[in-house]
Amino acid sequence: MPGSAAAQETILILGGTREAADLAKELVASKPEARIITSLAGRTKEPAPLAGEVRTGGFGGIEGLMQYLRETGVTQLIDATHPFARQISANAVEAAKQAGVPLDIRTRKPWAKQPGDSWIEVETLEQARDTIPPRARVLLALGSQHIRLFASREDVHFVVRMIDPPEEPLDLPDHALVLGRPGDTPAVETMVLIAHSITHIVCRDSGGNAAYAKIEAARELGLPVIMVGRKG
Ligand code: NAP
Repeated sequence: MPGSAAAQETILILGGTREAADLAKELVASKPEARIITSLAGRTKEPAPLAGEVRTGGFGGIEGLMQYLRETGVTQLIDATHPFARQISANAVEAAKQAGVPLDIRTRKPWAKQPGDSWIEVETLEQARDTIPPRARVLLALGSQHIRLFASREDVHFVVRMIDPPEEPLDLPDHALVLGRPGDTPAVETMVLIAHSITHIVCRDSGGNAAYAKIEAARELGLPVIMVGRKG
């Protein structure tokens, strides 16, 4: 149309995962003319640096996200959030529909059980808690918001790994805190499991590579993994 410049391609990635960070890097390199924006919820105090622009904090539900899409002139929305981040994914579907912005869903597929895996598959975190045998030593590989649920298991020693130190002491009777990100390789995770004499891992079926090393380490050590599936 004469006089009107074509709108700049503007891609909003709903992020907070390693895959989203990789995608931002890839898009910044492959689309130098486009605006690439990653949105973070703001849960991690010092997120790893990201390629392109970053915005942080909730949008304010479907309405807020829709408004952001319109005001920012987003031409493509990509959902690369964690598969258990269900609210933002549901909001993305609705907001994209209402704002008329195409949505590309790239949340990870569940892990496939491999020969040698000893998984006890459950549907909810409550079932995971109740499945832990008495006096077990458990690597609790869950977000900080889920830890409290395990407080009633006074007979179990928990090892909790967190990226940021907790603001308040953890509400678990018997536990050790390991600060840092999950190990990148099964060898690193094997060392953690052995150092803490872990007998069981409790985690959710997040899929992807970032958290998979502990699953491989458990397989090598023959340790059972209490795996909360996607329905939970
Ligand atoms: P959630 O329950 O689906 O979302 C709760 C609210 O947080 C959303 O309604 C939204 O607030 C805000 N929010 C979530 N993700 C956002 C994003 N990428 N950008 C802006 N606002 C966002 O999400 P969650 O499970 O708390 O996860 C939060 C973030 O952590 C996500 O980015 C996710 O990828 C990442 N993460 C989650 C997990 C997990 O286990 N759930 C694990 C690793 C990383 P408004 O309604 O105000 O917009």
